[in-house]
Amino acid sequence: MYNKNMNKIAEALKSKKIRPTMTRLAVAEIFFESFDHPSAEDLLLKIQKKFSYISRATVYNTLELLAKKGLAKKRAIKSGRFIYDPVISPHHHFVDKISGKIYDIPWDKAKLPEKISIPGFETEDYYLVIIGKKLKEEK
Ligand SMILES: [Zn+2]
Repeated sequence: MYNKNMNKIAEALKSKKIRPTMTRLAVAEIFFESFDHPSAEDLLLKIQKKFSYISRATVYNTLELLAKKGLAKKRAIKSGRFIYDPVISPHHHFVDKISGKIYDIPWDKAKLPEKISIPGFETEDYYLVIIGKKLKEEK
């Protein structure tokens, strides 16, 4: 199980002062390859398929820890659930209302102000959530 990729993940965790336990590494390994904006529950299913001994609490706690330490973005894109995004650089999201899939959209596709200040609120993060449908690719 310990391969080159795992070493890289261990280094990433250590750089954020997260102790790289075997279970955290297992959760992080699967999370860092999940670019489909999974919820904690989606990740739990995926992780337990490979590592059946990892508990729900470990998965949830590890995802929260990764988000708290800046290795993941916890986002509210669709109503009723949070998703975890391994892409932490600024980007927008497009929700296909037919399939429910969430696509990453480059930051420069939409012009937003460099800073958003709203009296009485402290802004942590912002991005657009664009809703529509994905067109069939032309061949
Ligand atoms: Zn994203």
